[in-house]
Amino acid sequence: MSSMLRIGAIEAGGTKMVLAIGNAEGSIFEREVLPTEEPEKVVPKIIKWFQKRDIFALGVGAFGPTGVNPKLSTYGKILATPKRAWEGYDFLQALSDGLHVPIGFDTDVNAACLGEATYGAAKELDNVVYLTVGTGIGAGVLVNGELLHGMLHPEAGHVPIEKEQDDSLDSVCPYHESCLEGLASGPSIQKRWGLSAVELAEKDEVWDLESTYLAKALAIYVLTYSPQRIILGGGVMNQRQLFPLIRKKLLTILNGYISTSEIQNVNQYVVESGCKGDQGILGALALGVRSLTEKI
Ligand code: ADP
Ligand code: ZN
Repeated sequence: MSSMLRIGAIEAGGTKMVLAIGNAEGSIFEREVLPTEEPEKVVPKIIKWFQKRDIFALGVGAFGPTGVNPKLSTYGKILATPKRAWEGYDFLQALSDGLHVPIGFDTDVNAACLGEATYGAAKELDNVVYLTVGTGIGAGVLVNGELLHGMLHPEAGHVPIEKEQDDSLDSVCPYHESCLEGLASGPSIQKRWGLSAVELAEKDEVWDLESTYLAKALAIYVLTYSPQRIILGGGVMNQRQLFPLIRKKLLTILNGYISTSEIQNVNQYVVESGCKGDQGILGALALGVRSLTEKI
């Protein structure tokens, strides 16, 4: 595709909207950040910003849960969310009515996964899991080159995880007593230890427990999604000491049962983002590019 075609991208988060203009090669020319106000306020601003910039297509990675299946009436809508003004809002329709270009729409984490697979740490790979470990935990999953949707979309941040015996934390997940997000998200670390994750950087026991929970979840992803690579991002993964711990524990849990060359080369199997924090917006760009190629 011509690198001259200008593609729009939106990383729609619960607190901010990142807008960008880029091209199919993953170059970003211009960006804007807007606070996520109620849709009636922020969406007209978004539309105006892109209208001035003459885009050929748009990609959107949206906070979820959100409708990602084009065959369903929920497609492009924001579903259950604590941000009440957004609940049920037809984001895709509003953007489409304002901009009249092809639009690729997916979850924020599926977009980030595609960003890594297109421009980052999983280039040339068709089967990839991207996990963000931040305020929440969420996974984007690429299977045979397509982002996994299924009935809704994966919610693999909430996989049930057995709590360690000496861990007395009450899960921070309102739904689950013992899920990954409830036990291993940034807020769960803060609640358990009484300090923010960044303040606990030197405390080995914090990262020992954190890596145990993350390795348990990664084992589930290896065994169910069969990814060729797993990429870990989000604020908590700034604690780089987690990576060797997670790799070692993942191998221990798998215990030789999966012995592919990828797993044997575990340092290249569980890796950090290759997009340096831009995986979300680059993934949205890639969704925009895909919407064009799919149309042709
Ligand atoms: P969000 O998930 O809200 O989009 P982030 O991915 O930045 O944003 O995640 C925020 C969480 O990550 C917070 O709980 C914060 O404590 C934690 N965090 C941010 N920076 C660091 C760091 N350097 N080390 C450990 N934890 C961090
Ligand atoms: Zn949960």
